[in-house]
Amino acid sequence: MDQLLFDYTRQDAQGQSCTAHAWAKVPAPLSTAQRAALKTEAAALLKAHNAVLVAHFYVDGDLQDLALETGGIVSDSLEMARFGRDHAAQTLVVAGVRFMGETAKILSPEKRVLMPDLDATCSLDLGCPADDFTAFCDAHPDRTVVVYANTSAAVKARADWMVTSSCALEIVSHLKAQGKKILWAPDRHLGRYIQEKTGADMLMWNGACIVHDEFKGLELELLREQHPGAMILVHPESPQSVVAQADVVGSTSALIKAVVEGTAQEYVVATDNGILHRMRQLAPNKTLIEAPTAGNSATCKSCAHCPWMAMNSLQGLIDCLKLGQGQIELDEPVRIEAKACITRMLDFTAALKAGVPQPQAGLVPHIGAA
Ligand code: SF4
Repeated sequence: MDQLLFDYTRQDAQGQSCTAHAWAKVPAPLSTAQRAALKTEAAALLKAHNAVLVAHFYVDGDLQDLALETGGIVSDSLEMARFGRDHAAQTLVVAGVRFMGETAKILSPEKRVLMPDLDATCSLDLGCPADDFTAFCDAHPDRTVVVYANTSAAVKARADWMVTSSCALEIVSHLKAQGKKILWAPDRHLGRYIQEKTGADMLMWNGACIVHDEFKGLELELLREQHPGAMILVHPESPQSVVAQADVVGSTSALIKAVVEGTAQEYVVATDNGILHRMRQLAPNKTLIEAPTAGNSATCKSCAHCPWMAMNSLQGLIDCLKLGQGQIELDEPVRIEAKACITRMLDFTAALKAGVPQPQAGLVPHIGAA
């Protein structure tokens, strides 16, 4: 890992760090009556614009509920991509972070893709600038380039495969079986986890999610002593010391499934705490405990909640539909190039679901199946 970590305290033009800038844009909490009124208005606008809401598990609970109540979806990023592509609505409103909106647009260029706040980004995306990444790839032309979904369209355009945390293990195992050496970006923790599980030859970019990177192994050990019967659920973007203590390591969907189907009464959850909303709805009798982040006397950048996910609001959704703002636009050549690696992943996962054996024929980097 010879790349430098992105500096999240870096100052922008306003003299703010990027996380401080994001927190400053998170809307203040609303009263129950205000929330109900905004939800009603938002639902009417979605209907009037023939739009569908595609939301991530980490966004505000009202947005998650609104998505489900209006025929949209709340899911992980893999399902969001599939749902947006396959839905008949000509306007997709993506409540999540920018790479999710870009993925929707890449797959459905004919649709209007709106986001409640286009500034909602991701530390993994920020920490993997396209020019630096291209230079990294150029320096290792013998490697198949696999990128996590949490990257810009320009980075995806340089990749052979895109993966999400739902399918990364299967895809990397598949590439290893073909004898491929892998260049992996940007999350170093997820990359390490997959490398350990598959034994693949992986050269890593040195990025991290500011939310998961802050979960602490030592504090988790202490918490487990207080809750000896609890099941430990960990997203693989977390550090090794946290993953090592997990009963279940998986994507957001996998962690929700573990709570719903688990026989334990208590669950310690090491992922963004926005997920607790859906977990509580689906498993109301289970006890959910947030995994510790920075520990006593320390500070945290996220405290287990992503500031960019938190920027999504009902008012932002109303504004983007009413005013047509927050629209995702992409350069067509970049979109076409980026689409190849996403389509490859979607085809692979669809075949996996259908039980179709994967072809062993080689892939030609940046071209496709040989
Ligand atoms: S939770 Fe982490 S990976 Fe997800 S959008 Fe926020 S910074 Fe990115």
